[in-house]
Amino acid sequence: MNNKVVIFSAPSGSGKSTVVNHILKLHPEMEFSVSATSRAPRGTEQDGVEYYFLSTEEFRDRIAAGEFVEFEEVYEGRFYGTLRSEVERIWAKGNVIIFDVDVKGGVNLKKYFGDAALSVFIKAPSVEVLRERLIARNTDSPEAIEERVAKAAEELGYENRFDYVLVNDDLETAFADAERVVDEFLSK
Ligand code: ADP
Ligand code: 5GP
Repeated sequence: MNNKVVIFSAPSGSGKSTVVNHILKLHPEMEFSVSATSRAPRGTEQDGVEYYFLSTEEFRDRIAAGEFVEFEEVYEGRFYGTLRSEVERIWAKGNVIIFDVDVKGGVNLKKYFGDAALSVFIKAPSVEVLRERLIARNTDSPEAIEERVAKAAEELGYENRFDYVLVNDDLETAFADAERVVDEFLSK
């Protein structure tokens, strides 16, 4: 059974979703870990696709029952976590798990999986560029953008706890970099 996992973490707006989607397209043997969250679905999001959507009460019950490999209150009152059942579901198919989690979650998952995990921290070339990308993405209010930028400063303090730091400046270079570290890890 293949029990490898690849973890991507990044401050919001650094390009994590962009890189994760690129890697998933190239690797049919890799499968995205669907997290549980207590936040409400956005737009066209569906239960079991983007997330398993739980009420706050159910999320807390599952924490108490020890059902999470890791969880974090990423934003105030909004919980996100990786269910043991999700890890087992993907491994049962023999697939490599790909995680998209916040920075603290990434550090915790690396501790949990050890050498079976490759952890990658993605960062924009500067905080100014990060702010510009969040503005250009046009999904957050000016207040939310400043909140994310302020959080990024704290999150950058965790980069040395990851196996690899990927600077996402030119996108094609970042894709090539991500492909290389993932391929090296999978061929070990
Ligand atoms: P995250 O998932 O980390 O929040 P996204 O993948 O949504 O970040 O990227 C944030 C925004 O920046 C998106 O609009 C994306 O298209 C854009 N973006 C990502 N990488 C680059 C890059 N190398 N150069 C310019 N824009 C980028
Ligand atoms: P969003 O609400 O925008 O979908 O996600 C917010 C943040 O939660 C992102 O940084 C995302 O990586 C993080 N996140 C998603 N799932 C998990 C998880 O299972 N665990 C942790 N720790 N963070 C997660």
